[in-house]
Amino acid sequence: MKPIDAFSRLTQALKVLPNVGPKSAQRMAYQLLQHKRDGAEELLAALQQALLQVRHCQQCNTFCEGDLCHVCADETRAQTRLMIVHMPADVASMETANCHDGLYFVLMGQVNPAQGMDLSHIALEKLVARLQNSAVEEIIIATNFTAEGDATAYVLAELFKNLPYRVSRLARGMPLGGELEYVDAGTLAQAVYERRQLK
Ligand SMILES: [Zn+2]
Repeated sequence: MKPIDAFSRLTQALKVLPNVGPKSAQRMAYQLLQHKRDGAEELLAALQQALLQVRHCQQCNTFCEGDLCHVCADETRAQTRLMIVHMPADVASMETANCHDGLYFVLMGQVNPAQGMDLSHIALEKLVARLQNSAVEEIIIATNFTAEGDATAYVLAELFKNLPYRVSRLARGMPLGGELEYVDAGTLAQAVYERRQLK
């Protein structure tokens, strides 16, 4: 077998990114090596630094560089209200919309019903551990309004069915197929204020 050359190795490696197939990977590799060599050096350095420094917040599971992220470390946040989201970007959207004064838990993924409701992509065990001996009384499920978001919300609602929390989900005022990340702050705030009680 012919040994893999450096250009092919880079192309292969770029395919790790979401929505990048062989053609886009080749275009990216060409661009980096032909026109953006400084950018490529910076990309390499930034990636190395991020791999070394970025880890998960011990409390909410989002990315951070210490033990706790700045939201969890902020003692003025309402400790009784926990909003569950898919990704760190959703926390950023909520903070921009300024519509949630409680804490977050970041699942770091979602359930894909097309792939058999595999729960290994969401941090359920960490969530259960987070809730143990906590002051949380209300849980707001803020998953996307997509098939994956609905499936994840269903799994969470089942998890909390017999537990003593008030549970709600964002209102359906969000565009159908809406991912929180791409919804404007006003619509997002409205969906939080008009959240509907599940139990
Ligand atoms: Zn945190």
